[in-house]
Amino acid sequence: MTRSTRASCPLDLDAPGKRLGYIRVPYSSDRSAYGWIGVPIAVIRGGDGPTVYLGGGNHGDEYEGPITLLHLLQELEPERIRGRLILLPMTNLPAVLAYRRCSPIDGANLNRMFVGDPGLDHEPTKAIAHFVEEVLFPLCDAGVDLHSGGRTLDYVPSALARTGPDDPLRARKLEALRAFGAPVSYLVPPVGNDNGILAAADRKGILALGTELGGAGTVTPTTLAVARRGVLGFLAHLGVLEGVPASGPTRLVEVRVEHYVWAPRAGLFEPAAMPGDEVEAGAVAGRLFDLDEPERPPLPVRFEASGLVLCRRPIPLVERGDCLFHLGADLRG
Ligand SMILES: [Zn+2]
Repeated sequence: MTRSTRASCPLDLDAPGKRLGYIRVPYSSDRSAYGWIGVPIAVIRGGDGPTVYLGGGNHGDEYEGPITLLHLLQELEPERIRGRLILLPMTNLPAVLAYRRCSPIDGANLNRMFVGDPGLDHEPTKAIAHFVEEVLFPLCDAGVDLHSGGRTLDYVPSALARTGPDDPLRARKLEALRAFGAPVSYLVPPVGNDNGILAAADRKGILALGTELGGAGTVTPTTLAVARRGVLGFLAHLGVLEGVPASGPTRLVEVRVEHYVWAPRAGLFEPAAMPGDEVEAGAVAGRLFDLDEPERPPLPVRFEASGLVLCRRPIPLVERGDCLFHLGADLRG
């Protein structure tokens, strides 16, 4: 049952063929009283098969998703597709255009706005989330939302699934991660008050994956290759595409709260580890200089747990509470 949304899309999402258009997200501003933001959307429908959501640009400073999906929307034709693709290469368009994680309009993080609220005219980010969850997801069987670390984190190229022991889709998500074939795949447990897109996908019963393909506010040929091969592998796994080379092996890890390292105070951080390193509990993660007291010896910051360094903060200036690293540990059992 589709609840009313503020956003609308004049594009025919059901007919066979390939169409590009815009989701119209109302935004009444000083410069445009009755205006709307046009979030690009493409639909490619071929023969019978599943409907798959492909999203990028949920966070605006993560560009593997936009580049990968712009390639695919130009390349893929309905004749190659068994099923339907719904592509949103730049889901939070204002953030993508501003090279920012959050929207420059309402300050909102789209991936925390899946709260079931269509928003008001000055809250376009809520309206985008609501349209995705209430209009697009009910059409979909599966999906991938392509992320990376943005400007403030840099990852080992990874895919991820939101799942716990009670998840009815757990086994299928693990298979899908293997089909995506990122160098690392990790599992994040569902938590309460989770307003992300993967929680929204779970509410709608969609088999969905996320990614953390790289980061530091940039893209590389390596991260883009992982993104492209991963999306094509996922589509082949679902039976939507044929002729896709098999994906490489993936290392399956899980991420728990003790895997995070946060800055205990402000300062200038000298890292002692990099993504891809294996570290032991108690090892020095880096040292934190106090810029107000140059004579003070740097404070060692330690890893609480052992594991694989999945990401680090690439910006050396830190404030208390900034995430410096997080690890992943090989999946038990
Ligand atoms: Zn992201």
